[in-house]
Amino acid sequence: MSLIVQKYGGTSMGSPERIREVARRVQRFVKEGHQVVVVVSAMSGETNRLLGLARELNPDADPRELDVIASTGEQVTIGLLAIALHKLGLKARSYTGFQVRILTDDAYSKARILSIDEANIRKDLAEGNVVVVAGFQGMDAKGNITTLGRGGSDTTGVALAAALKADECQIYTDVDGVYTTDPRVVPEARRLETITFEEMLELASLGSKVLQIRSVEFAGKYKVKLRVLSSFTDVNSTDMGTLITFEEDDTMEQAIISGIAFNRDEAKITVMGVPDKPGIAYSILGPVADANIDVDMIIQNASSDGTTDFSFTVHRNEYKRALQVLESKVKGEIGARAIVGDDRIAKVSLVGIGMRTHAGIASLMFKTLAEERINIQMISTSEIKTSVVVDEKYMELAVRVLHRAFELDQPPTEEHLKP
Ligand code: ADP
Ligand code: ASP
Ligand code: MG
Repeated sequence: MSLIVQKYGGTSMGSPERIREVARRVQRFVKEGHQVVVVVSAMSGETNRLLGLARELNPDADPRELDVIASTGEQVTIGLLAIALHKLGLKARSYTGFQVRILTDDAYSKARILSIDEANIRKDLAEGNVVVVAGFQGMDAKGNITTLGRGGSDTTGVALAAALKADECQIYTDVDGVYTTDPRVVPEARRLETITFEEMLELASLGSKVLQIRSVEFAGKYKVKLRVLSSFTDVNSTDMGTLITFEEDDTMEQAIISGIAFNRDEAKITVMGVPDKPGIAYSILGPVADANIDVDMIIQNASSDGTTDFSFTVHRNEYKRALQVLESKVKGEIGARAIVGDDRIAKVSLVGIGMRTHAGIASLMFKTLAEERINIQMISTSEIKTSVVVDEKYMELAVRVLHRAFELDQPPTEEHLKP
């Protein structure tokens, strides 16, 4: 007998019929003799609907109240799933995150899990119950309701699996695993049987929303066996989805590039005509950091006449605030000529641990984009990724041509394998 945590996302819980299917799948695992803890998301579209209602009343609503509202979607689906399980003759009990005592910090809308009290869950499991837990929510030390960021039910699932030392955490969604890129954008995308934890972490952080990044971080920290699977297959399907692995095993399929991620989450800001002298980056980015705005990519151009342009990207949600900070606290101070911004950009990234040992990846990437006449506005690289910023309107084209150029639709051949 093993202990399995299963997480079902919004589409998987999207209607009473889908919930019945989830219950049948859970029943199968119970019949096989496993203990099952199920984490669920709100029905698809529900969290957006709830936040939309709040925004209608006030676009600038109090974050504490937004979390009170956003967390309710999951309270509905835990109850519905418990009812569906009862109907199949199973013992099941549902819990909100607060009832479990999923303790988080107090950063509303992006809270981090600090601890989980798993005693009651263990007791319920020992008594033969399926335990159904609301994803995406917790409470802070003062008892305020918090949420874990969009897509946060993944993190609830993996964190619970870590706390319970579960044998496996299964993330059920509307695709049957992790693909070389989003299969909705590139139909030829190929499913990966395995992907290393490091690559998954990069893909998630660069925009592949199949797993929330914090769930991958948890899996890494606590070595949770994590799998992504489809809830749309037959409930008796033995499909194994994609396994996130921790060891780089030479016998495993291992391409130089594992996948392509993309997102439209960022905006670019350029401070023009700043004096090129020591301390200038600090003068610009210090006030931005003080305003709690994270900066991602940064470029400073060479100077010709003693002045230079300084560009960086921030999350789109922080774009307006960052512009305000620069206008009020930086422009006059440093004597910049102008501050311009562009929130119609996209970031496209190649990810693969094989990049460590292979040169020429970036140049093939740039050549491919050049052939399509896609202008690269910014570049950033690390050991296992190369990212470029392009005009948002070329994002999907860029992903498709790169997918083809790196032959990601083909299983890796000998020459693509790591040495
Ligand atoms: P859930 O509601 O189950 O959490 P999400 O919508 O959050 O589902 O995540 C699943 C979606 O992630 C898929 O429908 C797919 O469009 C998208 N996705 C993005 N990148 C990838 C990828 N590399 N592999 C698989 N799916 C991806
Ligand atoms: N319901 C939340 C969201 O839409 C959490 C999740 O689905 O993981 O972001
Ligand atoms: Mg999700």
